[in-house]
Amino acid sequence: MLNIFLGYACNFKCGYCLQSPSSSPPRHNPQDVDRFVEKIIPYIQNNGIDEISYWGGEPLLYWPRIKAIHEGLLRAGLTFGFVKFVTNGSLLEDHHVEVLNRWDAYVVISHHSWQEPHSSQEPRPTLGKHSQQGESTPPDAPSWDKVARLCRSSVSFLFTHEDLFAWPWFRVLEDLEQHWGRPFFPYVHWVRATEGCAPGFYLTHDDLDIHVPHLWELAEQRLEGDRHAHFMFEGHLRDWRRDFHPDGDSKPMCHGDHHISVDLAGNRYGCHHSARVELRTGSIFAPEGPTPTTERAIAHVEKFVKSGDCMVCPIRSWCRGNCHLSNTHDVDCRLAKKKHKLLAWIDAQENGSNNRNTIKVP
Ligand code: SF4
Ligand code: SF4
Repeated sequence: MLNIFLGYACNFKCGYCLQSPSSSPPRHNPQDVDRFVEKIIPYIQNNGIDEISYWGGEPLLYWPRIKAIHEGLLRAGLTFGFVKFVTNGSLLEDHHVEVLNRWDAYVVISHHSWQEPHSSQEPRPTLGKHSQQGESTPPDAPSWDKVARLCRSSVSFLFTHEDLFAWPWFRVLEDLEQHWGRPFFPYVHWVRATEGCAPGFYLTHDDLDIHVPHLWELAEQRLEGDRHAHFMFEGHLRDWRRDFHPDGDSKPMCHGDHHISVDLAGNRYGCHHSARVELRTGSIFAPEGPTPTTERAIAHVEKFVKSGDCMVCPIRSWCRGNCHLSNTHDVDCRLAKKKHKLLAWIDAQENGSNNRNTIKVP
């Protein structure tokens, strides 16, 4: 996956955001796009890159540049098996939808726009500004009428200390489906306890005591045929089936041939949510030998995956030591082991037992 990030400007201010504007890539001039396209084309061809992803902040704030880049790649005859676009959906207009559909892009709509940790007594937003019921309409909700016209999309939900259960999200999806007369697909992920994320959202061990049994409940629902429970695990199961090999290599989660994160100057980073110089691992346009700065960055990226615990862990090829920017590594590690057991169980139910899903994990 080639992750191209333009900057971290955003029209939302979510407390759990992994990105901080202070770690944004350098500002770009319009001519930087042309130079980038010219240089990235041979890089994509030479490295057989088939998957590309555009990131902000909010990428629609950078739409003219993203459009110029992708159209430039297509004009050069490049094709991609997977084009990913992650947006909060609030700025979507018809012309974006037309272009994203033409690119056959898979658009992930992040449906989590609360600014601060909230109390569980507060009313929760549901459908947003196009709500059928006209209730609790945050101004920053996705433009569902535009989302409904996307050919390939999912609605992404985030488990955090504040949100440990998927049921409210399934209700949102059901309301959307009823209103728009088409299916909506969930994608769930788990908060990363980075310095950009307010600590009030970090998952704790006490949270896992509640959350993990809920995941098992959802896994059972998947097997019983629940469509939302099916799709919320689908991407994670696919990754687990692809990456989990008990004797596999331990590459970092977000840096390697599988994850190439660059800004328009060709600087490469160990995380596509932070363009801090300390995470700059080199340049794809001007490759040079390691420098003390890039060596320090690589050491940071590998700090968990190359640790003694991870090196002997049987699930390292899938877990990859987890997020190297996390402030709650012990919680992440425990959750990864629990998720592995759960995914292995689902796999065994659906595909029959094999030696991969009976591996014992401490
Ligand atoms: S589960 Fe824990 S020990 Fe195993 S690879 Fe992940 S972070 Fe490392
Ligand atoms: S290091 Fe990887 S997992 Fe962690 S915030 Fe960055 S992209 Fe996400």
